[in-house]
Amino acid sequence: MNFKKSLTMALLTIAAATCLAQAQTQTIAHRGFWKTNGAAQNSLASLLKADSIGCYGSEFDVWISKDNKLVVNHDPYYKALPMELSKGDALTSLKLSNGEYLPSLEKYLQAGRGRHIRMILELKAHKNKKRESRAVQEILNMARSFGMERQMEYITFSLHALKAFIAQAPAQTPIYYLNGDLSPQELKDLGATGLDYHLGVFKKHPEWIVQAHALGLKINVWTVDKEEDMRWCITHKADFITTNEPTLLQKVLAEDLRLYHK
Ligand code: MG
Repeated sequence: MNFKKSLTMALLTIAAATCLAQAQTQTIAHRGFWKTNGAAQNSLASLLKADSIGCYGSEFDVWISKDNKLVVNHDPYYKALPMELSKGDALTSLKLSNGEYLPSLEKYLQAGRGRHIRMILELKAHKNKKRESRAVQEILNMARSFGMERQMEYITFSLHALKAFIAQAPAQTPIYYLNGDLSPQELKDLGATGLDYHLGVFKKHPEWIVQAHALGLKINVWTVDKEEDMRWCITHKADFITTNEPTLLQKVLAEDLRLYHK
């Protein structure tokens, strides 16, 4: 084989591998990569560790406080303080289990800014829709002021917040719905990027994966921590898997890639 032919073959191989890599399921660390030394769920350390192991994205949860401060935490309460009814400073002076303070969204975005990892921001469903509207506005303003609009993806259980993100976020921003009750066509009609549903929903409706892809929507499955479930999602061509076990998923994906090349 002459040099030109060898070069063409090599380039074709690289192009094929690139296509495959793009088509392969991607890893999203659920509340960051927190099952490791020095991290805690939704901590800055868990975000940085998810980035350090090459995850596609790191998921985290956001609330708006009584005085309009955005904070990162999963539950509606932390150490007996309610997220929605407390002042931001009171919440960010609480310590996480790894010794960090509960992060403000500002600190969280600053930590992720300029890194390769995508910031998968879940806006929690609040008791009052007006508070959700305010949160969406503040989040989008902050992402814009930090020059991070293209690094952000938004997910939510709240249909109200979903519609607000779709109406106000820059075009092409990925926005997913979590609640599991809308069909691919309904989400397409709303203008969402895709379905980010519990594994149980897709097991009940595997046809939604096919329908979603036919409509040009993406599929993200949560929260998938068992190897057999990861394989089910990969076989069914999930675009993303959200997991508390990102290193296990990366191992399963690497094996899948090796089998493909055999
Ligand atoms: Mg979440």
